[in-house]
Amino acid sequence: MIILITGPSGAGKSSFIHELMAQEPRLGFSVSTTTRPMRPGEADGRDYDFVDDDEFDRLLAEDAFVEWAPVHGRRYGTTRRRLDELTGAGRIPVLDIDVQGGVQVLERFGQEMVSVFLFPPSWEELERRLRSRGTDADEAIARRLQTARHEVTFAPRYRYWIVNDDLQEAVGKMRAVITAEECRAENMGLPPLP
Ligand code: ADP
Ligand code: 5GP
Repeated sequence: MIILITGPSGAGKSSFIHELMAQEPRLGFSVSTTTRPMRPGEADGRDYDFVDDDEFDRLLAEDAFVEWAPVHGRRYGTTRRRLDELTGAGRIPVLDIDVQGGVQVLERFGQEMVSVFLFPPSWEELERRLRSRGTDADEAIARRLQTARHEVTFAPRYRYWIVNDDLQEAVGKMRAVITAEECRAENMGLPPLP
């Protein structure tokens, strides 16, 4: 099982995944590689592997990515190395990636993917959250809102939809999804009775 979480920037994916992982230690966050600058409060190797354009080009040439995409003028990608580290440690990987990358991993991994589209409760609340985060200039916020309109058109490709209104409620729904997926007969291997 690989968990894919997608939603507009500001929907609350980071907050949601952070809380989910605190409640479900079997999960492991798939640290993406990006060329965007680090925000205050972020740590290299924890939130992202921060690289420059040359390093990203080098990784591309090595075929290091299972998916990558340009987002808001920067490049973001998931490396095979980070995924292998998680599965090697017996963790269920959690990917926080945009719709372009989501489409790529859904095609690549198919039924293994538990795909979730995370919605904000409204457009007004999305804008409020982007502003309250205080990390982006007005121009960047306008760009993120515009991208969000396009991103939600991809929501029908995802297996589950969760609205992140109350964070604890949204995380509770996600935990129910994981439990349901683990109970699917096709994910069980052999029947529990010989
Ligand atoms: P994303 O990772 O999707 O870009 P963040 O997790 O950074 O979003 O959240 C954007 C802002 O919204 C942050 O200031 C965060 O504290 C706030 N936020 C996230 N989830 C909720 C929620 N359920 N209710 C209210 N505020 C939220
Ligand atoms: P942010 O800059 O706000 O952290 O992320 C911007 C967008 O990039 C979000 O929609 C996030 O899901 C997406 N993103 C983060 N990592 C990756 C990745 O590895 N691949 C892709 N395709 N998108 C990513």
